[in-house]
Amino acid sequence: MPVQPSLFVSHGAPNLVLHDSPARAFLASHAQDLPRPSAIVCVSAHFETDTPAVVADPAPGMIYDFGRFEPELRRMVYPAPGDPALAVRIAGMIRGAGLPVATLPRRGYDHGTWVPLMLLYPDADIPVVQLSIQPGRDAAHHHRLGRALAPLRTEGVLVLGSGSLTHNLHDVYLPGGMRAIDSETPDWVTGFVDWMVGRIEAGDTEAVIDYRARAPFAAQNHPTDEHLLPLHVALGAAGDGAVGRRIHASCQYGVLHLDAYAFG
Ligand code: ZN
Repeated sequence: MPVQPSLFVSHGAPNLVLHDSPARAFLASHAQDLPRPSAIVCVSAHFETDTPAVVADPAPGMIYDFGRFEPELRRMVYPAPGDPALAVRIAGMIRGAGLPVATLPRRGYDHGTWVPLMLLYPDADIPVVQLSIQPGRDAAHHHRLGRALAPLRTEGVLVLGSGSLTHNLHDVYLPGGMRAIDSETPDWVTGFVDWMVGRIEAGDTEAVIDYRARAPFAAQNHPTDEHLLPLHVALGAAGDGAVGRRIHASCQYGVLHLDAYAFG
């Protein structure tokens, strides 16, 4: 069975799924570049818990975890099954890495999961297991969490982190209204994005883990870093010495860089 790379993708706003954009086109075509996964472990920025939680729901429902946006989004359904047996195995792997873990019997798909999966695998015929992030923990913790999942890649399981390479929503919703989707990208965003691609493609895992201290404008691009932590899980899942490759780069609203990376 071919070894899967692990992936980090940026999911954008929930309505990314509705409107043509470079990021949507990337997600809608990227699956053809990957071996077909036996299952997907999805780590979404919108699934936050204090300690790692793995979802063992055999048939996850939908979570419409957003306010504004087009009403048709609330009628969209992603009916991929769960995989409770795999969820229990993943919990064991995390426990084996010395981390606490819980198994949740029921939880639906949040938009950080279903938006990219609906584009990547629209047939919804690959089982999905959700794993939470811990917004109170740092990037090193999330790298360790991903490291525990590394053996799954040799079984054809796709570890998919879903967040946003930059995510300062204060700069999307300005007092006068939303920034234009094609706004110019300021230097504080470009500086961060360029630093990330340089460190990731150099295989400088230590720097990527320590990005908050080392990357220019880190806190400005991630006032809170839950949207970047799935990248650290994907990086960890690629194993020690992993070198990443940027497989997509585009920007919306000037400040949301919707880049994607493959690791391993
Ligand atoms: Zn999000």
